[in-house]
Formats: sequence, structure tokens, C-alpha cells
Amino acid sequence: MAEEVILLKLGEIALKGLNRRTFEDTLLKNIRRRLSAAGEFAVTSRQSTIYVEPKDGNADMDRAESLCAKVFGVVSYARAAVTQKDLGAIERTAAEYLEETLEEISTFKVECKRSDKKFPLKSPEISAQVGGYLLDSYPHLRVDVHNPDLVVRVEVREAGAYVHDDGKPGAGGIPVGTGGKAAVLISGGLDSPAAAWLMAKRGVELTAVHFASPPYTSELAHEKVVRLLRKVSEYAGRVKMVTVNFTRLQEEIRDKCPEDLGTVILRRFMLRAAEQVAREEGCAALITGESLGQVASQTMQAIACTDAAVSMPVFRPLIGLDKAEIVKLAHQIETYEISIEPYEDCCTIFTPKHPRTRPILHFVEAGEGAIEGEVLLREALEEKTALYVSPR
Ligand code: ATP
Ligand code: MG
Repeated sequence: MAEEVILLKLGEIALKGLNRRTFEDTLLKNIRRRLSAAGEFAVTSRQSTIYVEPKDGNADMDRAESLCAKVFGVVSYARAAVTQKDLGAIERTAAEYLEETLEEISTFKVECKRSDKKFPLKSPEISAQVGGYLLDSYPHLRVDVHNPDLVVRVEVREAGAYVHDDGKPGAGGIPVGTGGKAAVLISGGLDSPAAAWLMAKRGVELTAVHFASPPYTSELAHEKVVRLLRKVSEYAGRVKMVTVNFTRLQEEIRDKCPEDLGTVILRRFMLRAAEQVAREEGCAALITGESLGQVASQTMQAIACTDAAVSMPVFRPLIGLDKAEIVKLAHQIETYEISIEPYEDCCTIFTPKHPRTRPILHFVEAGEGAIEGEVLLREALEEKTALYVSPR
């Protein structure tokens, strides 16, 4: 059996002109860091392709493949057989390496790319030769150049020849770290992990802020958020999670503020606290899992009142998604089963019976005046705790 590598194809990154180098360097760094969990690999880039080569027999290729599937900035990835730059070797490798697939399908075509111009045959000639060899080896096969079941890809490069199929779709997006840093307000619900994932997909490095209100919320609720973040970190890389105790603030809001404005007032304090954490952590924006009209605090008017409490931009990547679409995404990123575990969140305790769906800012500000907001916020932030969540 020939030696094997993983080829990663870059997406949008290839279009970024002068920034391309930075994007590529960040991507290489992210892949190297992620792959360290699967053994020792050489990770190099040539012509919009990243080569992942195991350095020794201990490198776990299956593990490496599943780790590569979760790296943002990769449009597709394929395992490939490496062989000598010799037509006979290439033909035999194609027939052996793709045997399982070739047995099952009925039509194929061969596409060749030759970047080593010293190789004696031109690309179409290599394709024709390899195609002929495969037809002889697998008599049930036919060539279909328009709509084949399988495209056999042959690449003849400086370092050797590679044979592979089209592989699988990658995570897409752009490399984490190229899109700045933002603080995501994370609860144990379905929405905020999905929101975090979507922003990481656009290259954003994440810090997470979670509000807990013990004893109304439990240690298990906190642990659930850690598990959710671990799922997100498989794509986003290591995430710092800051937990802020909101018990006093929430009790004060419940006891002293107008009941129908309680939720929007709480949300304003959440954003204020998150903004302060964000500043300390070098983040330039906030992220929430809100979706327009999903609940009373997510109407346009309520969102306007919430945003008025902070000056940082607040990204809401789920704003236009239906619940069903969010659920689908949660399944895709494997957070769904964790999110539906039933633990109290600080947003679901003390909820008013009739929250105002169209709050007006000056009433909200006046209502907020009933509590020592600044003092309570400072006290809560003084006691914040932090931990790091890394992919397993
Ligand atoms: P989620 O599914 O993310 O909990 P939700 O639909 O339940 O969202 P809300 O409970 O109103 O909506 O919360 C809206 C957003 O506020 C969440 O998506 C999240 O970004 C933030 N948030 C809610 N609760 C918390 C919390 N305990 N800690 C940090 N952020 C929170
Ligand atoms: Mg919630």
C-alpha cells in the first residue's frame, strides 16, 4: 500500500489578495495545533492545497481526517495515496487505492493536474493512460466525462504523484483568528452555541461569557455550558469561558424594578457585563443567540433597548433564522442533545408573566434607576471566574 496523506483544499481564502498570506499562515497554525491530538504531522501549503503528511507510523490518519473536517477555511478534504512519478506506479496506485469505490460504481473519469512540467506526459495523456488501465482492471466500468459516479484525480507535483477522489466537504468559512475576537453570551440553550459557531466560521476567535444565578441555577447547568463550549471549540479552538454571578442583580431587579420590564433590564445588564469582560479580553464585539420575534425580549423594540446599554457592536447571526433551522444547525454541530437537557438558565427564573414586547427606552432607563445598577455590576464582575475549554 502506498503512503497516504490528507489534502485540504482552501476556499474563499484563495480570493483574499494581499491578505492571503496571513490567512494561509493562520490556517496552517490552526491545523497544526488541532492535529497535535492525532500524532506528528508535517503540514505544508502549495498552490491552494494544504498537505498533511504523517511523520511516522504512530500518526492516526482517521483521527486526523476527522479533525481536519472541523477546521474553518477548508472547503474540502481528501485522503490521497502518494506514489512515484512514474506512469506504471500511478496506474497501479489508482487501481489499488480506489479499489473499494471502483468495485461499486459504474462510471468514472480521470482528471489530471501536472505542475511538474518535467514529467514526460501531458495531463490529458496521463488521464487517458490511467483511464485505460482502470478500464482493463475493472471491466464493468465505463467512462462518462459529463456525469461520472467517480472522478479519479491524479496530481503530478514536484514531490511525487498523488491519487485521490473528490473527498468530502470541509467546514467552509475562513480561518479562526482572521476575523478578530468577540465575546459570545452563552447560555445552556440551543441558540447561543449555534450563534458562536456561526461567528467562528467567519474567522472570529471566541471568548465566552456565562451568567449563573446560584442557587436558582445549579452547578450542573454550568457544567452543561462547558460541554456545549467543548463542542464549539472543536471548530473554534480553545475558548476562555468567564462566568459571572448574577444572583444579587437578578434578585434586586425582581424586587425593585417594574415587573413587565424585568427581562429587558436583565438583558441590558448582561450586555453591560459582557462588554466589560470583552474589553478586558481584547474583544471588539459581542455575540448573542437572539432571533427576531422568538420571545418578548427579541422584538425589534426590545433589542433596541438592549443595544442602547452598550457601545460595542452586537452580532446576532441567528436573527433571521427559524427555530427549525437553528435546530438543524445544532444537530450538525452536535450541540442539540446537550442543549435540550433540562436545567434552569438565569433567563428562565423570575420571568415576568406579561413582559412588555415593545418597551420604550426612557421607561426602561427610569425603571432601572430603582436599583444600584453600577454597584451591583461591579460586585458581580469582581467575583467572576474563568476557565479554558479545549477540544478533546
Ligand atoms: P439560548 O437558546 O441561547 O438560551 P434563548 O432563545 O433561550 O437563547 P434568551 O434566553 O432570551 O433566548 O437569551 C437570548 C440570548 O441571551 C442567548 O442566546 C444568549 O446569547 C444570551 N443569554 C441568555 N442567557 C444567558 C446566560 N445565562 N449567560 C449568558 N448569556 C445568556
Ligand atoms: Mg435561553
